[in-house]
Amino acid sequence: MSDGQPELSIVVPAYNEEDNLEPFYLGLREAVEGLGKEYEIIIVDDGSIDGSFQLLRRLHADDPHLKAVRLRRNFGQSAAFAAGFDRARGRVIVTLDADLQFDPKDISKLLDKLAEGYDVVSGWRIGRQESLLTRRLPSTVANRLISSITGIKLHDYGCSLKAYRVEVTQNVQLYGELHRFIPALASWMGVRVAEVPVSHHRRRFGKSKYDLSRTIRVLLDLLTVKFLLSYSTRPMQVFGLLGMVSFAAGTTIAAYLSFIRLFLGSPIADRPLLLLAMLLIFVGVQLVSMGLLGELTIRTYHEAQGKKIYAIREMLE
Ligand code: UDP
Ligand code: MG
Repeated sequence: MSDGQPELSIVVPAYNEEDNLEPFYLGLREAVEGLGKEYEIIIVDDGSIDGSFQLLRRLHADDPHLKAVRLRRNFGQSAAFAAGFDRARGRVIVTLDADLQFDPKDISKLLDKLAEGYDVVSGWRIGRQESLLTRRLPSTVANRLISSITGIKLHDYGCSLKAYRVEVTQNVQLYGELHRFIPALASWMGVRVAEVPVSHHRRRFGKSKYDLSRTIRVLLDLLTVKFLLSYSTRPMQVFGLLGMVSFAAGTTIAAYLSFIRLFLGSPIADRPLLLLAMLLIFVGVQLVSMGLLGELTIRTYHEAQGKKIYAIREMLE
């Protein structure tokens, strides 16, 4: 490819990784040079408060392939990925962490798989070097759950080492912590997803930014993703249906109560059934209104201009 337009963009989020960044960059550069493709490396400094950006500034000065984006504060890994994706110009995007836990040599395996015609190739960390109880076990459960609920079966959603065709990264909006769900989110556009085993090392410098509480956030995100995938274009059909069922049940009970009050003369004020009827009617009306509001909201969502989820302090390009 002609210069200025790389074939491959490597996007790397980094938050307080000053001890890892230089060896990481050197290893990555060596591995990527070996691929023989035009490339760019985009390291997104996610508001580090250590010397990470000073280091990037120095590395950038000697290497035109290296770009650095510095976010104004710590926005989180998803936002860092999004900032990188927005600046990436390659037709293929590879993501990985800056913490030396991945082996950049695995990138070529991912690219080979992508070349077979896949749109997303996810790494699958074999022999993961992390604690069983707080990291690997919750992750296994989460992967099973995400796979069965979203229908995109992967063993390792949490693996940041992934390769995408650029259409994929351009077509998913990353809110919250949704980066791990990109393969699932992208499934609406009919992507072909493959998995490749990659190696994983223990973290040597700095510490992990996550703990067990992430599992809970992942599960909540899964709810969002499921909703986005299944119902976000037709909220009325979900809420409306539930609402109608509830309303119909409520009015049936109310009709029965009216009948025995009017024609059989028995009192109904002290009957729990009356409360139930009222509740069902109320809830039914509310659900239908929520469906209508949902319809309005998704129109705004789809028609409004995409709003950025980050603010950049400075960029080296
Ligand atoms: N990271 C980031 N912003 C954050 C948290 C993490 O950019 O708010 C980066 C971090 O520097 C690393 C990658 O995301 O390059 C993965 O983070 P970490 O290694 O802490 O996660 P783990 O490997 O323990 O799941
Ligand atoms: Mg890590």
